[in-house]
Amino acid sequence: MYLKHSPESYAQANECFPAIDRKVQECGGKVHYGWQIWEWPGVLLEAEFHAVWLSPEHELVDITPKSFKVEKILFLPDPSMRYEGKQVNSIRVPLSDNPITRDFIGICDAIFRIQNKGNRAKQSAVSLEGPESQLHQRLQETRLLTLQMLEAGLNRNSLCPCNSGKKYKACHGRKLEKKLARV
Ligand SMILES: [Zn+2]
Repeated sequence: MYLKHSPESYAQANECFPAIDRKVQECGGKVHYGWQIWEWPGVLLEAEFHAVWLSPEHELVDITPKSFKVEKILFLPDPSMRYEGKQVNSIRVPLSDNPITRDFIGICDAIFRIQNKGNRAKQSAVSLEGPESQLHQRLQETRLLTLQMLEAGLNRNSLCPCNSGKKYKACHGRKLEKKLARV
C-alpha cells in the first residue's frame, strides 16, 4: 500500500522506531511494522524494515523523515516482524542480470554483517578496529564504485572507475566473491 509521508519535526532521518514510540505516547495509536519498498529502476528492489504509525482513526502514516524528498512510500505490512532493538538487514532483489548488481547486493550484505556482528547489532554507531576495519573500508569503497557503475550502465568489462586503467573484473571486481564469502 502507498502511505502518506508526513514527517514529524522531532524525528531524525531514517530513525523510525524512536519516532513512533514518541508519537504513540503523545497521540495514542499504535506502531505497525513492515517493509518500505524502494525501486532502483532496472537495477534492484530493496525492502527496508520499517515502522509506521497507526493513528487512533486507523490510518497508517509514515512519520519518519528521509534523506531525500518523498510524498508517499510503498509499504508492505508484516505482522510477523517486530523491532527488538536489533538492526534488520534489507532484502534486495536484482532487476537485471548485470553481475555487478549481484556484486553490489553482496557487498551491502557483507557490510551489514560486519556492522552488526554480535553485540554491535544493538548499537546505532559502531567503531571498528584492525583488519576488520580495513576490510570494512575496502568494501565501502567497492560499494561506491559498483554504485557508480550501475548508475552509468557499465559492466564487468568496463574500465574500473577507480582510474587504475584496468577493467573492473581485473581490478575491484577481482576475487570479490571470495572476499565476500570470508565475511
Ligand atoms: Zn578498481
